Amino acid sequence: MSPEVIIVGGGITGLSAARLLSRKGVTFILLESASEIGGRVQSELYDGYSLDKGFQILNTGYPEWENQQINIHALSLQSFASGAKIFQDGKVHTLADPFRDGLIAFQAFFSKSVSVKDMLLVLKLRFLLKRQEIVRIFAMENQSTLHFLQQFGFSTPFIEAFFKPFYSGIFLESELRTPASMFAFVFKAFAEGTAALPQKGMQQLVRLLSSEINDENILTHSKVTQVQSGMVTLSDGTTLTAPNIWITTGTRPFQGVQRKEWQDNHSTSVLYFSADIAPKWGRFIGLNAAKTGLINHFCMPSSVQPSYCPEGKHLLSVSLKPQWEYIEGMEQKVVDELIAMNAIQHPVSFLKAVTVKGALPNLVSMRYEPELIKLHDGVLATGDFAAYPSLNAALHAGRLLVETL
Ligand SMILES: Cc1cc2nc3c(=O)[nH]c(=O)nc-3n(C[C@H](O)[C@H](O)[C@H](O)COP(=O)(O)OP(=O)(O)OC[C@H]3O[C@@H](n4cnc5c(N)ncnc54)[C@H](O)[C@@H]3O)c2cc1C
Repeated sequence: MSPEVIIVGGGITGLSAARLLSRKGVTFILLESASEIGGRVQSELYDGYSLDKGFQILNTGYPEWENQQINIHALSLQSFASGAKIFQDGKVHTLADPFRDGLIAFQAFFSKSVSVKDMLLVLKLRFLLKRQEIVRIFAMENQSTLHFLQQFGFSTPFIEAFFKPFYSGIFLESELRTPASMFAFVFKAFAEGTAALPQKGMQQLVRLLSSEINDENILTHSKVTQVQSGMVTLSDGTTLTAPNIWITTGTRPFQGVQRKEWQDNHSTSVLYFSADIAPKWGRFIGLNAAKTGLINHFCMPSSVQPSYCPEGKHLLSVSLKPQWEYIEGMEQKVVDELIAMNAIQHPVSFLKAVTVKGALPNLVSMRYEPELIKLHDGVLATGDFAAYPSLNAALHAGRLLVETL
């Protein structure tokens, strides 16, 4: 019997749709080309360390957790400290959220990059965005994040020392060309929630979503090569039919899915190190305020979630600036940079580097409500590329697909 829906792609978009279809009792089959579901959200167990596939966090402020009744508390979340540690000229300065961390925020004034005016502007932006509806954020004038920050009045040293490394790590591009609506959305979500990690790595989110889906509805190793109205063809020639076919294949362009707003993809490289002694900045995200060097930002996932590594060990994650991709031997230069920055005082051992190609779609304009792109009668395509690059957009896209039935 053919199902009512075929979902092509088992990333967060496809899983969000599949979970909601399961709840509604609609028959479906999800086809995933890889050996595992999860798409871009993956974690690997390496020598007892849990390594997320690229630096990823779960932002508890996203509205889709609540919209879809996803019980993220089941992930035993723990959060990074709010704000960041700014590493500049061998010194470290704390930039914290004064609403959460009280006086710590004022340490930032000792940094040459943070003026009183910049701190007050952060508070003003936080106040304005917390009150702003997300739909209105995405309706704002299409301008780059950099332009928006300059217009808002932030000083160049503050943009260089804080906004550039912090948001480069999220946008995966270093010039802050990403539309300001994405910046404002993420800033608002951080103001309303925290940057958290699940106890067992980011992939635990995939397991949480799939726990409500019957195993027999998911077929891995099933690459779809052709789609037409009512029918998909797999790479081994098998055909499957359904009146509704939803393409959620992410940043890998699929037959006619590429949009003009989506020019290419951003990639990222992360290097993982093991340490016997954790640095003092532990739960903070560390930012390299210098324009030069390989490192963009770094953190200790194990200071947030000790289960990321074997007992008695610590896990250090270092993300390269977006223009760099890891090549063999680069790890020594990265360690030298960490020492020069004063970010580490004790030896670390290199575990592994992870490069994610096609990590995020490079979009020149964004929209809040993901577009459902009609490819043929009954065939729709969507995902983060049809809105803005985020787990929230992927989840939202899956929900909108189900609402079409
Ligand atoms: C390194 C990195 C860091 C990130 N950090 C964050 C973060 O901190 N916060 C945040 O909100 N978002 C983050 N994101 C973005 C977020 O992970 C994505 O927006 C989201 O996972 C996209 O899900 P998706 O299902 O739309 O696409 P994908 O995850 O790309 O899923 C598409 C799926 O389709 C499958 N597929 C492709 N072609 C075929 C085919 N022909 N047949 C069958 N299956 C196919 C793929 O194998 C894949 O499983 C990050 C992404 C990366 C890579």
